[in-house]
Amino acid sequence: MEELVRRIQKDGNVLSEGVLKVDSFITHQVDPDLMKRIGARLAEVFAKKKITKVVTIEASGIGPAIYTAQSLEVPMIFARKAKSLTMNEELLTSSVYSFTKQVSSTISISRKFLSEQDRVLIVDDFLANGQAAKGLIELCQQAGAQVEGIGIVIEKGFQTGRQLLEDMDVPVVSLARIASLNDGKVSFKEADA
Ligand code: 5GP
Repeated sequence: MEELVRRIQKDGNVLSEGVLKVDSFITHQVDPDLMKRIGARLAEVFAKKKITKVVTIEASGIGPAIYTAQSLEVPMIFARKAKSLTMNEELLTSSVYSFTKQVSSTISISRKFLSEQDRVLIVDDFLANGQAAKGLIELCQQAGAQVEGIGIVIEKGFQTGRQLLEDMDVPVVSLARIASLNDGKVSFKEADA
């Protein structure tokens, strides 16, 4: 997505050879117009897959996921990282190692929101080593739901996430793909959409 690539070039900050900061338009302050177009693009890519739910993980997956769900006219569910007092129903749970926080946490979704009838599109802001997406796939599998694809805003193509997810037979579509963050510079690969 050309507009996203240009915005990363303009406003992204390389924190290290492994980490890109995009907190002025995606992960902290959010540009809603850009986010809406990101959601519309992901919805367009997966339009033929008969998606019934969009699933993401809090917090920064929620922006792209909500606009994707709105475009597909289906509900969005975000997995929670901490158990809320109000989550008193049966839960689907899985353990996820966080790339940025470097701790494992249990993520959960209420069982009642996913079923064998669901065809799920997973959406997240970043793909690094694929642990967040793998945890979300596991939650869907526990419910017997079918994961039709994974839509990613920014993929770091030099990390192992895509390989892990493709080995699980789930198609991955990334709107921006980063080849490297070496020497404080963002180099891109050709994106999927
Ligand atoms: P993974 O689970 O694929 O290893 O990492 C993906 C998750 O870690 C995303 O949900 C995202 O929140 C976070 N993440 C991974 N790499 C980066 C990065 O370079 N910058 C930011 N801001 N978040 C990242």
